[in-house]
Parts: sequence; structure tokens; C-alpha cells
Amino acid sequence: MGLDDESADAGSATFEREKDLSIEQNVRDLLDKIERALKRMDEGTYGVCEICGKPIEKARIKALPYVDLCIKDAQAQSRR
Ligand SMILES: [Zn+2]
Repeated sequence: MGLDDESADAGSATFEREKDLSIEQNVRDLLDKIERALKRMDEGTYGVCEICGKPIEKARIKALPYVDLCIKDAQAQSRR
């Protein structure tokens, strides 16, 4: 095996790891959201928007049970 083969392997291995990391990050984000949703259930604030304090749309909670923002504020956040 030459030096060129080794560096090519190392390059693709790094790429694979970066891909895994971004997936891991997504899963961690999701877990974090779920944990916060569970905490809000304990506190009795589940289903209430964290920014404006208004109830989050029922259809939205049904689709994304871990959301902590109403549609309006979620859109405002993603625009930032
Ligand atoms: Zn809101």
C-alpha cells in the first residue's frame, strides 16, 4: 500500500465521521427538545409558546409533539 492510498482512506474516513457528527447533532437536538417538552409537562407549561406565552396550535403539537414555539414565533426564529 502506498502513501497515496493511505491519505485517500484517511480523507474518506474524515468525511464519514463528519457526516455521522451532523446526524448525531440532529439526534441530540431532537432529544434536547423532547427532554424540554417533558419538563414542561411536569411544570404544566406544555403546549404554551416559550416566546409569546400563547397556546401552540393543536395541529402543530400533533405533528411535532416536542415543539416549544407557536408557528408565528418558529417562523420568526428560522428567518434569523
Ligand atoms: Zn409564540
